Amino acid sequence: MSLATTSSLSTIFLCRGSSGVERGPEKAGVGSSILPLGTLMFIDTHSHLNFPDFSEDYPDVIARAKKAGIVAIINVGADLPTSKRAVELAQKEDLCYATVGIHPTNTNNLKDEDYQKLEELAQKKKVVAVGEIGLDYFHNSIPKEIQKRSFEIQILLAKKLNLPVIIHNRDAHQDVLAILEEKEVKKGVMHCFSGDINLAKKVLSLGLHISFTGNLTYKKNEGLRAAAKEIPLKKLLLETDCPYLPPQSRRGKRNEPGFLVYTAEELAKIKGISLEELGEITTNNARELFKL
Ligand SMILES: [Zn+2]
Repeated sequence: MSLATTSSLSTIFLCRGSSGVERGPEKAGVGSSILPLGTLMFIDTHSHLNFPDFSEDYPDVIARAKKAGIVAIINVGADLPTSKRAVELAQKEDLCYATVGIHPTNTNNLKDEDYQKLEELAQKKKVVAVGEIGLDYFHNSIPKEIQKRSFEIQILLAKKLNLPVIIHNRDAHQDVLAILEEKEVKKGVMHCFSGDINLAKKVLSLGLHISFTGNLTYKKNEGLRAAAKEIPLKKLLLETDCPYLPPQSRRGKRNEPGFLVYTAEELAKIKGISLEELGEITTNNARELFKL
C-alpha cells in the first residue's frame, strides 16, 4: 500500500466520522509498514474472488477493497478448480493470498490423486491455509462418513505442511469438535461463526480463532452478537465469505471484500472499541495466524 493511497483513505474515513481517534505513526503489526494517522485497515480472511461470480470484474472489486482499507484478501478454495484459481489470483494480485481445500459438500467421489493434486497446490507460494474443510449436515447431500474422512485427510495435510485450517461447520457442531479434538488441531479458524457462546467457548478452548461475516449485522442475530461480546479480541477475525452473506445494509446484493467495514463497525460497537482499534487488532490476529 502506498503512502498516497493510505493518506487519501484516512481522509475518506475520517470524513465518514468513523472514529477520529488520533494516534502517531506506529508499527501496526507483523510485517506491516508505518501507517499515517487515522488509517483503517482490515483483512478479509475468507473471500471467494476465485469463484466465477467475480471472473469478469475482480480487478475493480480489488480496487474498491483497497479504498475501503482492505490490506489483504484470502481467497478460499472449495474444490480443486477453485483452489487452483485462488493460487493463480495470489500469484497475480499483491493483495491476494490463497487457501486450498475441498468443501464438505464437494467430497463425493474424491480419489487419492485428487488429494495429491491438493497437496501440490498447497505448497505453492502465498498459500496460507488448508480450507475450507469441515462438515455440512444442513445440505445433507453427502454421507457423513465420506465428509468425515475427507475432513480428516485434509487436517493431516495441514499438519504435515504446518498450515492452519479454515473450518466450515454447518449443523455439525458435535462431530466437528470431536474430530478437531481427536486430531489435536490447534491452529485454525471456525469460519462464519453461527453458534452460541457455549460453542464459542469449546472452539476457544482448542486454541482456535473465530471469524464473523455479514451475518453479525442481521437484525435477528441477537444470539450471535451476544456470543461475539464474550470472545476475546485476540481470537477474533473478520471475513466477508463473498459473494455470499452481504451485511444487512447490502442484502440482496453480491457481497465483496469492500463491504467488510460494515461487519467491522458492528463488531467494534459490540466490543466497545473504535473501528480503527478493531481493524488493527483483527489485522494483527490474521497476520499472526496466517503468517502474512
Ligand atoms: Zn466460504
